[in-house]
Amino acid sequence: MSGTDEQKQRFGTLAIHAGQEPEPVTGAIMPPIFQTSTYVQPGLGRHKGYEYSRVQNPTREALERNVAALEGGRHGVAFSSGLAAIDAVVKLLSAGDRVVSEENTYGGTHRMFTKVLSRLGIEFTFVDSRDPDQIRDAMRPETRLVHLETPTNPMMRLCDLRTAAEIAHERDALLCVDNTFASPYNQRPLELGADIVVHSATKYLNGHSDIIGGIAVLNEDRLTEDLLFIRKSSGGVPGPMDCWLCLRGTKTLHLRMEAHNRNGTAVARFLEGHSSVEATHYPGLESHPQHELALGQMSGFTGMVSVEMGSADRAKRFVEGTRIFALAESLGGVESLIGIPALMTHASVPPDRRAALGVTDGLVRLSVGVEDVNDILEDLERALEGA
Ligand SMILES: *Cc1c(COP(=O)(O)O)cnc(C)c1O
Repeated sequence: MSGTDEQKQRFGTLAIHAGQEPEPVTGAIMPPIFQTSTYVQPGLGRHKGYEYSRVQNPTREALERNVAALEGGRHGVAFSSGLAAIDAVVKLLSAGDRVVSEENTYGGTHRMFTKVLSRLGIEFTFVDSRDPDQIRDAMRPETRLVHLETPTNPMMRLCDLRTAAEIAHERDALLCVDNTFASPYNQRPLELGADIVVHSATKYLNGHSDIIGGIAVLNEDRLTEDLLFIRKSSGGVPGPMDCWLCLRGTKTLHLRMEAHNRNGTAVARFLEGHSSVEATHYPGLESHPQHELALGQMSGFTGMVSVEMGSADRAKRFVEGTRIFALAESLGGVESLIGIPALMTHASVPPDRRAALGVTDGLVRLSVGVEDVNDILEDLERALEGA
C-alpha cells in the first residue's frame, strides 16, 4: 500500500492495514517476529538493508509505519519505553539549550528532566500550560524544545495545542507532545501543529498491559534522521516480540478507544453525581473548566478519570474496596485499574509540588477498561458505599 493510498483511508482501516505488507516469502498476512540480532550479508559491503537489529528490524519497522499513519505523521521511531522516547527527543538538544515543560507531566518525565538531564547542562523551566502566556513568558533565545502533555496525568488539565505550536514556532523551538493519555484515536497533535508526538506505547497503543514500549512520530525527514541517529547511538530499542505485540494491539485501537471513551464518560457522569465524591476531573464533562477546548482538539475523552475523595482514608477505602478495578499503577489496558497517584505514580514528585498541582492524598485515579459498563458502575457504587 503506498503512502498516498494510506492518506485517504480512515482510522479503522489504517489501524489494521497501514504499513502491513504480506510477508514476501510465504505471503503470511501477519508480519513475522524477526527475532534476530544480525543479518547474513551475501558479500562484503553488500546487504539487503538490514545489518544489525539495533539499527534495523523489519518487525519494528512494521510497527513504526502503523503508528505513524495513525498519528497522521510520516515517520515513526520506536523505543524500549515511553521514557526512552522522551529521553531521545531531549538528546536532540545540547548543553546550554533550554526546555519549557508542562509542570504536571508524567512523574517519571519530571524525574528524568530534573534529576538526570539537567545534570548534563540542559535547563528546564516548568509552566502551567493551561495558560499559553506562561509558555510564552518562559521562552528564552536558548529554548529549543517545548514539551507538553495533554490531558495531563492525573489532573486532566489541557493545553491548547494550536496556540502552543504558534508560540514554539515563533521562537524557532520544536513542540513535542506526549499523546499517551489521549491516543491518536482521540487527538492528533501533528495535525494541530506539533513537530513530534511521543507515546508510552505501554498504555493505550498496546492496550493489553503486557509490554513496556515507546514511540515518537514526526513529519520532518531531517529531524527523523537525527532521532534515528540518537537511537542508534544510545540504543533504547524495543525487542521484536514486543513490537509484534504492540502491533497486535494497534489493530484494535479504534475498537478499544470507542469502548474506553464510552465507559469513561459513563463513569465520569456517575462519579460526578455521587454524594461521596467531592470533585470529578474528566475533559468530557461540561463541568470541566476546559471542556470547550477539549471539544475543539479532541474527538473523545478516553477512560482516564480522577476524583477527589476529600481524605486519604476515604481514598484508601475506595481503592481497596473495588473488585473489578484492580489496584495497580499504569493505565490504558482493557482491564480497569484504580490507584492513588500521591502514593503510587507520583510518589517521586516532592510533596509540596504535588500539593500545588492538586495531587492530594485523597485523589483517586481510574483507568476505566472495556468490561461491561454495568459491572463497572456496580463495582464503583459498592466501593463508594464502603468508603
Ligand atoms: C507511562 C507514561 C510515560 C512513561 O512511559 P514508560 O513506557 O513507562 O516508560 C510517559 N508519559 C505518560 C503520559 C505516561 O503515562
